[in-house]
Amino acid sequence: MPVIVYFVVPCYNEEEVLPETIKRLDQKLQSLIDEGKADEDSRMIFVDDGSKDNTWGLISEYSRSNRYVGGVKLSRNRGHQNALLSGLMTAKEHCDCVISLDADLQDDIDVIDQFIDKYLDGCEIVYGVRNNRDSDTAFKRTTAQGYYKFMKMLGVDIVYNHADYRLMGSRALEALSQYSEVNLFLRGIVPLIGYRTDYVYYERAERFAGESKYPLKKMIKFAVDGITSFSVKPLKIISNLGLIICFLSIIGFIYALVSFLLGSAVAGWASTICSIWFLGGLQMFCIGIVGTYVGKIYGEVKRRPRYIIEEEIIN
Ligand code: UDP
Ligand code: MG
Repeated sequence: MPVIVYFVVPCYNEEEVLPETIKRLDQKLQSLIDEGKADEDSRMIFVDDGSKDNTWGLISEYSRSNRYVGGVKLSRNRGHQNALLSGLMTAKEHCDCVISLDADLQDDIDVIDQFIDKYLDGCEIVYGVRNNRDSDTAFKRTTAQGYYKFMKMLGVDIVYNHADYRLMGSRALEALSQYSEVNLFLRGIVPLIGYRTDYVYYERAERFAGESKYPLKKMIKFAVDGITSFSVKPLKIISNLGLIICFLSIIGFIYALVSFLLGSAVAGWASTICSIWFLGGLQMFCIGIVGTYVGKIYGEVKRRPRYIIEEEIIN
């Protein structure tokens, strides 16, 4: 049975790459339809994330001559993650599964067949994982890989070397729609959904035209968002640090006392320095406790779904 598959492509100032991207994706979709893998109702949805160039003009123009091309235009630039989500939620109403990919086709579209095969095997989420980073600059490679490791250390479950190239079935999309958080970090949310998942490996190419829409500033914001939306460990680190300093201050206290008794300390030094050490640690510990509650409040306001049912048997 052919599946209705939607490609979702967020685009921000991508007029340079769009004609080629649409052409290549169209070829891919046609061959999937010809092979009987994809249904005639499959589509490609291009989300214009408030571009300042002619991106939307191109999308609407192509949609007139090619019925497989669809578009969503956001009222202004909302960032890659929000643009992607809007496309996924639009596609959710019409399709069996969605494949999200970047407009610059850095992700190898020839593995789309494998994505669909895994979906047909019963996987609800399939992650595209890049098996090398040769196309990145040394700087991007080291920072990105360090970041994945750091996230793991903080207890965040993200897929190593996976960006937003993935397939999601309609059930996974339905589950995703229950996450109402505003600070979106899809790479962190999707693994929380569960269901049967699998991986597809591919080589990431270079952007074939135009330049990266992720300057360092946006990348740092994205990275910080990922940490602060998924981990309250930094708050715990503060508490622990406070406790350690309190403990060390006891040693300092003994040292100050000994200096005082030996008469080698200036009058008033011992009591002053002991209070500073101990109170410093205590304050940090208390901030950590307050932080723990703030962390809990943060968790509550996100109103994430508490569970997602995969199957149900009631006789
Ligand atoms: N993008 C977007 N909104 C933004 C920035 C980027 O929709 O504010 C899109 C962009 O058009 C591209 C994808 O996100 O399809 C990834 O961006 P890019 O390829 O520039 O990132 P890089 O590959 O350099 O990390
Ligand atoms: Mg790119």
